[in-house]
Amino acid sequence: MKNFYSNIYSFNTKVLKKTTKYLNQGNLVAIPTETVYGLAGNAYSQKAVKNIFKIKKRPKKNPLIIHYRNISDAKKDVVFNKNFYKLYKIFCPGPLTFILRQNKKSKISPFATSSLKTVAIRFPKNRIVRSILKSINFPLAMPSANLSSSVSPVSALDVFEELKKKIDIIIDGGSAKIGIESTVIDLTGKPRILRPGFITFNDLNRLFKLDLSNNKSKIKSPGMLKKHYSPGIPVILNKKPKYSDQAYIVFGKKFRNNKNYFNLSKKANLKEAAANLYKTMRKIKKKGYKKIFVTKIPNKGLGLAINDRLKRASK
Ligand code: AMP
Ligand code: MG
Repeated sequence: MKNFYSNIYSFNTKVLKKTTKYLNQGNLVAIPTETVYGLAGNAYSQKAVKNIFKIKKRPKKNPLIIHYRNISDAKKDVVFNKNFYKLYKIFCPGPLTFILRQNKKSKISPFATSSLKTVAIRFPKNRIVRSILKSINFPLAMPSANLSSSVSPVSALDVFEELKKKIDIIIDGGSAKIGIESTVIDLTGKPRILRPGFITFNDLNRLFKLDLSNNKSKIKSPGMLKKHYSPGIPVILNKKPKYSDQAYIVFGKKFRNNKNYFNLSKKANLKEAAANLYKTMRKIKKKGYKKIFVTKIPNKGLGLAINDRLKRASK
């Protein structure tokens, strides 16, 4: 069913068919995942992958995560190892991205991997992505459906705000449950977190000792670009605003309900805060505030991922 935004569709069999057709032709669609909304295209198609970079204005050096419905499909493109199987059993499908060596026979477009010999793969859990993956015979290259360096979209309307009519199909799957990107773990050597995300350092470190070295000579995850997740107005961390025309992002119950205060979680729940983070930054911008101040967020568990995003938003 079409609504006012003529490219936003709710999901049903007819829309699934249309989506499949689009993807088969090398075109792009925006779809919900459990983390954030993604801009998806055939990972084996040069046309599709190139177009993802173009629409997002994404630096060519920032490779894409490739999404699969199951292990046997992914096996065609990457080489698995023990650590992968261990983590897969516990966390997949879900918000964990693995960096693995590329299989020599892989058909992934080199544009998607920025010509690296490794591939980032994920098995998303969201019901809509899964049914799309089941109805096509290629994996989906899919970064977040926003312009590069801006805040990730967590709803179909957010995607529209970012990409307008540049894509023909945006599937509305409601608010993204998790609301923050997947954790990226490099499994090509001693396991190393490249990007903190919903699966926390402790979740992973209790399974095996993670590599904590900050090895600059290794290819870093380009998602670690210093400026990223930017709401388009200055973000100032660990400080209270002076004036009421400045927004204040707060966390926990000790804060009042001032008009310019935006509480990520009154219950001081980090999961709730993560789910509200991007939504809140967008809301503040829309209300016309010119600056965002942010209170200190506990730097443990999921707080690490939240602080990582806030830090980059403040650059
Ligand atoms: P996103 O911007 O949310 O699409 O994030 C994708 C993340 O995966 C970025 O941090 C990328 O740098 C990272 N990534 C993708 N492919 C690779 C790879 N082969 N090696 C290292 N990091 C990768
Ligand atoms: Mg992104």
